[in-house]
Amino acid sequence: MKTGFLIDMDGVIYRGSHLIPGADEFINVLLRKEIPFLFLTNNSQRTRRDVQTKLQRMGIHVEESHVFTCAIATARYLAKLKPNGTAYIIGEGGLLQAMHQNGFSIVDHAPDFVVVGEGRTVTLDALESAVNMILGGAKLIATNMDPSCPTQSGTRPGCGATVAYLEAVTGRKAFSVGKPSPIMMRAARKELNLATSQTVMIGDTMDTDILGGVQMGYRTVLTLTGGTRREDLPQFAYGPDVIVESVAELCDINQFVQSSLPIGNREDDTIHNFREWALANA
Ligand SMILES: [Mg+2]
Repeated sequence: MKTGFLIDMDGVIYRGSHLIPGADEFINVLLRKEIPFLFLTNNSQRTRRDVQTKLQRMGIHVEESHVFTCAIATARYLAKLKPNGTAYIIGEGGLLQAMHQNGFSIVDHAPDFVVVGEGRTVTLDALESAVNMILGGAKLIATNMDPSCPTQSGTRPGCGATVAYLEAVTGRKAFSVGKPSPIMMRAARKELNLATSQTVMIGDTMDTDILGGVQMGYRTVLTLTGGTRREDLPQFAYGPDVIVESVAELCDINQFVQSSLPIGNREDDTIHNFREWALANA
């Protein structure tokens, strides 16, 4: 049976600019065995090419088409809603490029949409402009709602924080397209031509990767190399199917692909130690 993977990057493949040991080997196994996969990121800052280059510098050689960002998901979604529309953007290159490629004009007056993504270029002037556009009728769109992002030096405010600011001032609620939204989760599966039952989401964040996968009925794998610890799990009313210390544990991909993992996301179904489980069920 065909299986394919949707793989989060930050906290799964790397942390900041450091490769997580074994992640390169895992991707090489997927490439060698021609198992379909897509990197799925809620970071809208970078283009596909930027992400490809970053991975290349870490020794992971993939195609641009292996990268699917929330910026791409957002731009495609909005293009269907309003072909040849206009947008005001608070964000960076990845979002701007995706919007242009999907037929949008970027304007600073009376746009159809105010689209907010990740970036370090937010100014009070830009926020004030956005507020007035939203109050004037522009729809508030978020590429994702992550409130923050862990960095090597601490915590960086995320897109969700900027969106919360705009929501507070305008009293309007944003519509978000990135993980865990079914819009992005489904678009990624379709990109790989997989059925729901063939799709596995691997991620380190419960609120986005795992929740998104659970809602879609995908199998889910939580890695502990990112922001989530085992002790955090009891607070959630959903859970992953499998917990691994790191994606390195999945390098023997046959064990994973050919295993009939339980699907149900019940606490007592979760495989807490994949290596032991795979041995016992070999
Ligand atoms: Mg992550």
